[in-house]
Amino acid sequence: MARTNPIIRHTEPRAWIGCLACYNDGDLVGQWYDAEECDEVTPAQLHGHATDHEELWVMDHEGIPIQGEMDPMTAAQWGRVFASVPEHQREALFAWVRSGSYVAEGEGDFPSLEVFEDVYEGEWCSWREYADHMLEEGGLLEGVSDEVRRYIDYDQWSRDLLMDYTVEHAEDGGVIVFRNL
Ligand SMILES: [Zn+2]
Repeated sequence: MARTNPIIRHTEPRAWIGCLACYNDGDLVGQWYDAEECDEVTPAQLHGHATDHEELWVMDHEGIPIQGEMDPMTAAQWGRVFASVPEHQREALFAWVRSGSYVAEGEGDFPSLEVFEDVYEGEWCSWREYADHMLEEGGLLEGVSDEVRRYIDYDQWSRDLLMDYTVEHAEDGGVIVFRNL
């Protein structure tokens, strides 16, 4: 019954809803829906005719950053979570959850958008670019002469800084940076 994607990528959240009774009879009856619509799908819609089959189940999905099957309500909730952040931040939110070091809200797996806003540091060409930015921004080099700057171990600095961050690959080749709490 496991039809999960081995690689979970950020795409529009969609879910494949199937009928469990049909599945148990060896029949795959189902189709893809936008995640947000998943809690509105009825068994009759899914079968294309009236049916006494009742239980619908998400057997596959994409654009939802957790592995495994789920009920249609949960898929719809994931859809709403992503719809509620601006489009340009959705890949970052996805990456944050996928990283596993995200902060969940309440009892479910859903991310706290408040914390996301707080810890999201943007997308950068590389971790090193971000670390360099922090070095300048933090004023650590203020008043330090070029002479001395040459002796600073920037690689070590950026490695040490990394301890306090979560860095995920972005799809365009850069990195997405989050502060750890
Ligand atoms: Zn059925």
